[in-house]
Amino acid sequence: MVAHEVICWDCGSKIEDPFVNTCPRCGGLLTVKMDLEKVKEMRPEDLRKAPLGVWRYAPFMPVDPANKVSIQEGGTPLYPVKALGKEIGVENSFVKFEGLNPTGSFKDRGMTMGVSHAKELGAKVVGCASTGNTSASLAAYAAKAGMKCAVFLPSGKVAMGKLAQALFFGAKVLSVDGNFDDALALARKMADERKLYLLNSINPYRPEGQKSVLFEIMDQLEYDVPDRIILPVGNAANIWAVYKAVTELKEVGWIDKVPMLTGIQAEGSAPVARAFASKTKDFIPEEHPETVATAIRIGNPVSGRKALHAMYSTGGFCTTVTDEEIIKAQQLLGRREGVCVEPASAASVAGLKKLRETGVVDRDERVVCICTGNGLKDPDTIINNCAPPIKCGNSVADVERILSQ
Ligand SMILES: *Cc1c(COP(=O)(O)O)cnc(C)c1O
Ligand SMILES: [Zn+2]
Repeated sequence: MVAHEVICWDCGSKIEDPFVNTCPRCGGLLTVKMDLEKVKEMRPEDLRKAPLGVWRYAPFMPVDPANKVSIQEGGTPLYPVKALGKEIGVENSFVKFEGLNPTGSFKDRGMTMGVSHAKELGAKVVGCASTGNTSASLAAYAAKAGMKCAVFLPSGKVAMGKLAQALFFGAKVLSVDGNFDDALALARKMADERKLYLLNSINPYRPEGQKSVLFEIMDQLEYDVPDRIILPVGNAANIWAVYKAVTELKEVGWIDKVPMLTGIQAEGSAPVARAFASKTKDFIPEEHPETVATAIRIGNPVSGRKALHAMYSTGGFCTTVTDEEIIKAQQLLGRREGVCVEPASAASVAGLKKLRETGVVDRDERVVCICTGNGLKDPDTIINNCAPPIKCGNSVADVERILSQ
């Protein structure tokens, strides 16, 4: 295991109790401080014997690989998207397709780390509140680890594929009266009373696994750092994880340039984007977040302050896109590139398009959009936005007539 300590991101206190999720002294957010002295003597090539994936980067991770609970997460493709890029006006664009993780979203990167750490601690019960993908992922890793799993979902508003997964993997699926923020409050209460080990992204070990998406992008681009990385922002842990990975690569001397980290929120659920627009370090929670992109339908993002720090200190940006722009971008990715992402993931591409139109992104920038989840998670949204199947008679002539239209 790589030497590390858990500290408070706000006051710097060292946290000794592995079951707390906020600083006992100041209530602040926790983070993992890695000791990377040994990695400074290594080169990226030294890690390449292991397959592309989360555990290739074990020297940057705080959990002993001997305790690894893995379903071979990570190792997702980085597509050059020429046709899409041409249409948007940023030809040198890439899509990192996280929908090809074992349970269909980037959440698996954090969950392999979080559940492995739970195993290290001897936890028997794990749990989380979720807009869907976190619960789908946790349910799978808990099954793999032989742990009991409780997931707290906001009633309604969870995409069908995600609900199906949580049920399928054998979790206790609890439908909580309220929105995501209410479900999280209940899960945290359970954790505070030591009834379960909490694996929401407030858990500092999850972002440690999520750092691997940035490490992989760098490997796939041969350490030629892109100008900008764009990702959707919900609870805001992922953009924080990417930022943390960037700072750690800089610390060990593997990169010297920093990509502009750019977060995209949905218009109806945008506390971080509004804070960014008013240049503040903190955000004002929103009471009734609403968007078709259910994975980022979050009014009180747990890591919102960390995300703002990530964007400010990399010269990044944050803006919103409408549901209509999200659906258009989702369809564009499908029709131009053959890639099917869920609505929240399409927000990154919709954001790139908007930022090009408004001149924030230059025509010749090299940009990576992280597409966080698989479109099949939410088939209802796809079907609602596509033309229905075409009624067809049982003859070649009928088919020909339709194809010629
Ligand atoms: C969780 C999730 C997000 C949001 O990530 P945060 O770390 O909460 O900002 C975006 N897209 C998908 C598909 C997700 O599952
Ligand atoms: Zn503190």
